[in-house]
Amino acid sequence: MKLNLTAKIIIALILGAIIGLVLNLFAKDLFDILDPYLFNPLGQIFLNLIKMLVVPIVFVSIVLGTAGLGDPKKLGRIGVKTVSYFLVTTCIAIVIAICLAYVTDPGMVEGIDKSQAEFETEEAPPVGETLLGIIPANPLMAMAEGNMLQIIAFSIFIGLGLTALGEKTKGVLNLFEQVNDVLMYLVRLIMKFAPYGTFGLIASAIGSQGFGALKAMGLYFIVVFAALIIHAIVTYGGTILFLAKKSPIWFFKNFSPAMTVAFSTSSSSATLPVSMDIAQNKLNVPKSVSSFVQPLGATINMDGTAIMQGVATIFIAQVYGIDLSLEQLITVVLTAVLASIGTAGVPGVGLIMLAMVLSSVGLPVEGIGLILGIDRLLDMTRTAVNISGDASCALFVGESEKKRTIKEQKGEK
Ligand code: ASP
Repeated sequence: MKLNLTAKIIIALILGAIIGLVLNLFAKDLFDILDPYLFNPLGQIFLNLIKMLVVPIVFVSIVLGTAGLGDPKKLGRIGVKTVSYFLVTTCIAIVIAICLAYVTDPGMVEGIDKSQAEFETEEAPPVGETLLGIIPANPLMAMAEGNMLQIIAFSIFIGLGLTALGEKTKGVLNLFEQVNDVLMYLVRLIMKFAPYGTFGLIASAIGSQGFGALKAMGLYFIVVFAALIIHAIVTYGGTILFLAKKSPIWFFKNFSPAMTVAFSTSSSSATLPVSMDIAQNKLNVPKSVSSFVQPLGATINMDGTAIMQGVATIFIAQVYGIDLSLEQLITVVLTAVLASIGTAGVPGVGLIMLAMVLSSVGLPVEGIGLILGIDRLLDMTRTAVNISGDASCALFVGESEKKRTIKEQKGEK
């Protein structure tokens, strides 16, 4: 029997989790030997292989996407739709998170010892500065540093230039198209290694963490997890069913390999090459839309992260016995939207940005220390939600653009 890639990745995921857990519980010494020589290298090789493609793919595909749209008005329209979708869904995500946290009271559980909480605050990058610095003074530096927003801005300019110059720069456009083909070929090649990489990443993560940290934090974990699932099913499922007029089951079934990669890497941006490939080739999202919406989403749209931040804020407030007023809750929603925009699509940053949300309503930042231990597992799950949000948006915008084109063509006749 020949298994398809998705099945292989899922089997690797389960196998990695079981082996990691068994070693963590019964053979910690063996794990300490196996991790640096087997699990960790397998995971890192895979991670670096896909990361290697992120900057070139974002650059090339946004240039092509912008050039493919042809007219700056269309770009503006797609931009407005995309950013509105991102903002609305992120708000919905936090509201779901806060409501669920108030219904279940995860911070009232016995056994949570707040004297244990220690957390060194790292400087969270100011969101205003990130947005202002969107135009790169040095595009090569932006690429070297992997500054996504700057790369996106530069690529849009090049794409606009190619459109404006038309015939004259046809050769450059062809070159970009061919480079894109090479990169997409490499994505598929690297994905053949995904089951091994996933196995290594999961075995390493679970083996070193175990589920010990889960005990007192169990309810917090479940609440975040449940809010993530509800958001994925209700908000994204709803978008796909009502706005894109497609089947949510079809969407999640096709998109699941990207979700497993996000789950094992905990990085939206590392998952980008895979999620774009699937959106364009399996979900039939027009290339010009996918290559614009998804890289932008992987950088600024983090619903899963916002959910964690919503639940964590209520959790920490409850542990410290602080009541939040309605005004403060609204502040939490607004700052969590900003924080999720400012969160880079790499592991663990959502937790650092949580400091910003907590300080906005005067909650103790060291409370983050309480949830630090189990954040790795939640980071995996929320990253899978983060990239699903980007893909659902790409599908919705893609379908609405297709409809518009058909209408326009009919109108011309
Ligand atoms: N790891 C998340 C992502 O890449 C960000 C976070 O919440 O830490 O989407």
